[in-house]
Amino acid sequence: MAEKHYDLIALGGGSGGLSVAERAARYGARCAVIEAGRIGGTCVNAGCVPKKIMWYAAQLAHALDDAPGYGFKLDYFGFNWQRLKSARDTYIGNINDWYLGYLAEAGVDLLPGAARFVDARTVQVGGHTYSADHLVIATGGRPRIPDLPGAQFGLSSDGFFTLNSCPRRAVIVGSGYIAVELAGMLNALGAEVTLLVRKDQVLRPFDALLREQLMERLREDGITVLTRTEVRTVARQSNGTLRLHCNGHDGHDAVLESDVLLWAIGRDPNTDTLGLAATGVIVNPDGSLPTDRYQNTNIPGIYAIGDVTGHFPLTPVAIAAGRRLADRLFGQQPERYLPYDTIPTVVFSHPPIGTVGLTEEEARQQHGDAVRVYQTRFTPMYHAFTVRKPPTLMKLVCVGATEKIVGCHLIGENADEMLQGFAVAIRMGATKRDFDDTVAIHPTSAEELVTMR
Ligand code: FAD
Ligand code: NDP
Repeated sequence: MAEKHYDLIALGGGSGGLSVAERAARYGARCAVIEAGRIGGTCVNAGCVPKKIMWYAAQLAHALDDAPGYGFKLDYFGFNWQRLKSARDTYIGNINDWYLGYLAEAGVDLLPGAARFVDARTVQVGGHTYSADHLVIATGGRPRIPDLPGAQFGLSSDGFFTLNSCPRRAVIVGSGYIAVELAGMLNALGAEVTLLVRKDQVLRPFDALLREQLMERLREDGITVLTRTEVRTVARQSNGTLRLHCNGHDGHDAVLESDVLLWAIGRDPNTDTLGLAATGVIVNPDGSLPTDRYQNTNIPGIYAIGDVTGHFPLTPVAIAAGRRLADRLFGQQPERYLPYDTIPTVVFSHPPIGTVGLTEEEARQQHGDAVRVYQTRFTPMYHAFTVRKPPTLMKLVCVGATEKIVGCHLIGENADEMLQGFAVAIRMGATKRDFDDTVAIHPTSAEELVTMR
């Protein structure tokens, strides 16, 4: 017999779990959130937030390089990593505290500990049992560490945020968001960075324009990018440095030495310790949870949202899925769900990438000759006076006689801030003509998106 019964329990107090419980509570539902670690989940504690702070620091490092071009004469006394880390940790601690207040104010109970299902209506946490009409699995994921000798000497992105100083040399393995973001930040902050990519390019699911330009930028910024290279073994030497034996390009093996090794090869869903066998919930072979578009698992009353579904693992996606699920269950909006087709996303590389909708390749596969592409490349005015001259590249992918815009791909300074408004227009079904008819804002880089020929 459960000690307490709720209308809804969220398993996991990250972006998804918090949002579903808070929205449900606003509709008057009795809710609880079970959290095994720190409130706020990955985004707040080991993801978007600390990452963006490090990215800002890296942007400032680039701005310092650029400043002499604008007439500044600077004396540079270096970068104090420890000081930034300490301020960052305090900032995150304040967000954790804010969440505790926010939950209390919303009337949501926080149940600390790791949740495990007893049956399809009951969970156990810290020796207590609770039941609910609706159980939402929002347990996120954790960094994947490869199974190879010495892999434990490497750090994950979680470990990156515990570093107390900037490593002199860093090897990063991977080719997704985290690999390119960490490579750019560490490089800008002074580390000698080697990026090991097992195939030919980084960010393979992205539009070719973005991944090709980013490869060029990484190398021009001084990062060593080794493609078709995989780590075989890692050993720690007596002086503390790491030695990596790699299968190199075209069969040439490589031996690398580094102070820090970072694994950024993807994340695994946190489902293995949930006791899901007791519920009958189907689990995909990779540990993620399949759902229908309403976030229902195969068992009535059990839902999954956020990273644990393996679908667009991004904070705003977890939040939107959670809120819409609460709207549906308690807000009398039975058809409410999150469509996953025009989700904008930004990669905080240097310069950043912003992308929404279909890549050109995907559009051509789906729409053949009906696709028309507009593309531009230019040096932003800001870089007219700087030594570094990273170009900005933009692509609009249009379909049919009306030239409906189905994809927008940007790489360049401020692409991260540019995309959001264009994502609204594209979601609303904007055509190229709508873009052309929009008066430009001058002088900006964004104006190029409404003046492309
Ligand atoms: P999480 O936030 O991971 O929350 C899951 C929670 O469940 C965790 O707090 C965990 O402790 C808890 N938990 C796990 N098992 C149990 C259990 N058995 N019982 C109770 N609690 C449990 N996304 C962006 O949109 N923008 C970014 O810039 C961005 N940057 C990122 C940078 C990094 C380095 C990383 C790793 C991720 C980044 N992300 C970013 C992705 C984003 O962090 C995730 O998509 C988001 O946090 C997912 O939310 P979630 O609620 O699904 O899972
Ligand atoms: P990603 O899925 O983005 O990329 C991981 C990539 O690493 C794979 O696609 C694969 O690319 C490569 N890889 C996989 N296994 C190996 C291996 N054994 N050796 C070498 N390379 C390997 O995962 P991340 O960990 O970078 O990030 C996880 C998710 O978190 C992202 O998908 C994103 O949704 C989210 N995130 C979002 C951010 C943002 O919004 N700015 C920032 C950070 C994370 P290939 O097959 O080409 O080799």
